[in-house]
Amino acid sequence: MKPENFSSSIRSLILPEPEGEMKYRCLGCINKYDSSELLYTCPACGSVLLLEETSGKPVTKADSNMWRDLLDYRRMLNIPAIKGIFRFHEFIAPIIPLEHIVYLGEGHTPLVEANDYMKAYTGMNFYFKNDGLNPSASFKDRGMACAMSYINYLVKSKNISSILAVCASTGDTSASAALYASYLDDSVKSAVLLPKGKVTPQQLAQPLGSGAQVFEIPGVFDDCMKVVERLSEVYNVALLNSKNPWRILGQESFSFEIAQDLDWDVSNTAVVVPIGNAGNITAVISGFIKFYEASIINSLPKIIGVQSEHADPVFRYYRQEDGRRVFKPVAVSPSVAQAAMIGNPVSMPRVIELVDKYNKLSDRTNVFIVQVSEQEIMDTMIVANRNGSIACTQGAESLAGLKKALDTGIVSCKETGIVDSTAHIIKFSGFQDMYFTNTFDAAFEVRPDPSLINMPHDVMPEGLTHFPKPGAPLEGDKMALFIEKTSEEIAKMLGLEKRKEQ
Ligand SMILES: *Cc1c(COP(=O)(O)O)cnc(C)c1O
Ligand SMILES: [Zn+2]
Repeated sequence: MKPENFSSSIRSLILPEPEGEMKYRCLGCINKYDSSELLYTCPACGSVLLLEETSGKPVTKADSNMWRDLLDYRRMLNIPAIKGIFRFHEFIAPIIPLEHIVYLGEGHTPLVEANDYMKAYTGMNFYFKNDGLNPSASFKDRGMACAMSYINYLVKSKNISSILAVCASTGDTSASAALYASYLDDSVKSAVLLPKGKVTPQQLAQPLGSGAQVFEIPGVFDDCMKVVERLSEVYNVALLNSKNPWRILGQESFSFEIAQDLDWDVSNTAVVVPIGNAGNITAVISGFIKFYEASIINSLPKIIGVQSEHADPVFRYYRQEDGRRVFKPVAVSPSVAQAAMIGNPVSMPRVIELVDKYNKLSDRTNVFIVQVSEQEIMDTMIVANRNGSIACTQGAESLAGLKKALDTGIVSCKETGIVDSTAHIIKFSGFQDMYFTNTFDAAFEVRPDPSLINMPHDVMPEGLTHFPKPGAPLEGDKMALFIEKTSEEIAKMLGLEKRKEQ
């Protein structure tokens, strides 16, 4: 629908205009900084930052009923800049003009209801939110769309001739950064650092295909992160890791979409996300707080963060007694939830602040961190995907976490789970292969359940001597024999019965 076809009261607000004022707020000291330049850490104390809209104008220009209507009406528009996460422009980055927004089809991923088998398996009703259906096949595109739109805005409005965007990655950030940078003209180029052998072949192929410079570094993600931090301190580059607070803003869209897709009622809902560098859970919490403070939702859903036993620093932190918690990084061991295999999450200070705020606003403990085993993650993934899901290992980690939360009384079977499947299984099919072929390295501590193994059948009927080959098809009797014998063999394997003669 065209903007001019809405009633006059809607028409004036349907298209977001650049407005408001955004500031970086340091979580380590009291400093605030203007958003006209790109910052990742506080120049004064080195702590991480969050971005805030400080004028209050964009969000208060409509009341809560009007906002719900407006956001629903915006679904009907066909303007690229607001077809993605910037439907929620006023709540994300209202200073960015629509003409600089980069839209590659991100966001608005579906909530898919679990089938009856999966509900029984888990013990409760739940939906997967399939964030693997984003353009680079992970949720990282939400944050990247915002960070790249901001960079694009800077480049165009300040006439910057070139920017090199860099990131360290467990695989998906680099795929996303490379994709978005490749869309922009030559003023924005990307370079990505990956821990050698610790990303899947698909995740390595993605930034290569997008034309980024790819560097493989010995060690794990935490080591790559240190190198990238050094690069961004000493050289003139734009850091695209989730230290970059613009990414957090874009990822808040995950929560906004859940609220909208549940018709603004998130009571009795538990939102489950895996935790790696903790940017995602930061954004999810922050997003719900924004909608709650604007009265667009009237309650705050339960939030459950999930970690593997092999990379669980956030779980260990919250297991300690409130008031006496001390954060300690952990050394990670191999995890199938490889994109979350992080021992020293960059966003931990953000998590600590926002969890506290969320619990206070909820008037109770409303954020929980649970821990699951590698075995639970793999079994859950295989079962889920045999039931219509497209869950990656981290998505399965979320679902295993929901199950754990139910078993330990954190959620009740009367609640509904919204489970973040953060990437598409296709990126992580190597772990499925290891399960089916029972070739996990001992360090993973995963044993396949034989009843879940699925392998291709080699069809090689006895008595056949001629086979079709590319460029050399069979003809006549030879082809007829090939078809007959091959179908007989398949029918035998499947136990098929012959049709009755008519
Ligand atoms: C990055 C990533 C995570 C972890 O998210 P954080 O924001 O680092 O906590 C989980 N799953 C997938 C697929 C990812 O790419
Ligand atoms: Zn500071």
